[in-house]
Amino acid sequence: MIYLDNAATTFPKPNRVIRAVEKCLSEYCGNPGRGSHPLSLIAAEQIYNCREALSSFLGVEAPERILFTQNTTHALNLAIKGLLKRGDHVLISELEHNAVRRPLYRLGAENAVTFDTFPVVGLPEEAILQGIARRIRPQTKAVICTHASNICSITLPVAAIGAFCHRCGLKLIVDAAQSAGILPIHLKKMQIDALALPGHKSLYGIQGCGALALGEHFLPSPLWEGGSGVDSRSEEMPTEPPERYEAGTLPTPAIVGLLEGVRSLQEEAPDSIAKREKELFVAAKERLLSIPGIHVYAPRQEGAVLLFNKQGVPSVAIGKQLADRGICVRAGLHCAPLAHQALKTPPDGAVRISFGRYNSLADLDALWKALRAE
Ligand code: PMP
Repeated sequence: MIYLDNAATTFPKPNRVIRAVEKCLSEYCGNPGRGSHPLSLIAAEQIYNCREALSSFLGVEAPERILFTQNTTHALNLAIKGLLKRGDHVLISELEHNAVRRPLYRLGAENAVTFDTFPVVGLPEEAILQGIARRIRPQTKAVICTHASNICSITLPVAAIGAFCHRCGLKLIVDAAQSAGILPIHLKKMQIDALALPGHKSLYGIQGCGALALGEHFLPSPLWEGGSGVDSRSEEMPTEPPERYEAGTLPTPAIVGLLEGVRSLQEEAPDSIAKREKELFVAAKERLLSIPGIHVYAPRQEGAVLLFNKQGVPSVAIGKQLADRGICVRAGLHCAPLAHQALKTPPDGAVRISFGRYNSLADLDALWKALRAE
């Protein structure tokens, strides 16, 4: 099997992540924060260690401002629905995933919130900022945008957007599903108010947890109520993060996996992984463009995700043919219909290949041969 679907979830996971999860399950997986016995205390300590590792990795003020969620989608729902009130307006980029678009449509259907999209494809930073500025209304409360697209290699100038938002009194919510672990992130320096991330993609944890990192002045309303392990007599959720937002049992094995994934990145230098993924992008682009009829979308920016189509062949058919040859890619619409419109792909979408730290040039040679054989 050749795995080129790392934007969906990275595979394989580092051995040290697998070993850490196994150790958790076999040696200490009590319910964190729900008892004073050793198995609960060790689990709680590991969860705190993960908050600490993530807060220093992401430039977050305090470990308590890392909130664990089920995935990026839940983190975005918490940030969006916990911030916005009836009558608010927000701006989103034209590359947003359904994890941003659908919560906003739901709020829109309830007549609560309106939104507009701003263009980014093919635009320099200044033009992106002008596009945002032109769309601001008196009711505009926030900008919500992805850091890196999930369907192509375009990244957004989040630090510049952060500085702009704060000059205008707007909040900035960032979807880091495709950037956490690949691009440098520092909430404080980039003036990000809330950042949603998955544990299972380029931070190399396992599926089962994500996180919302809160900037200094961002405290959304909680979305869920229930047990938190503290202040049980109260009828309301605790007032402080993280307990205010984490109702119910946390996925300790997934959080332990995420902790080990972050540690592995810190020790193995994310910069060098990102550099290698860019080299793979360039090499893949060269190989694909040597095949007649292949079109690569947004080819100029290098990144961990490459989108292409072959003239006259539906993307899903290419995905299936590659799968039959043991090559895992994703074809179709990738949960981001707005982004497909912006890139002008055909209605049935396009084929996405996405790189991870274990891919090599040999994988790209195999892809090239398989595509030429069709
Ligand atoms: N946003 C983007 C840009 C994504 O690529 C994804 C995952 N495909 C998500 C949000 C949702 O992530 P998760 O599956 O962790 O909820």
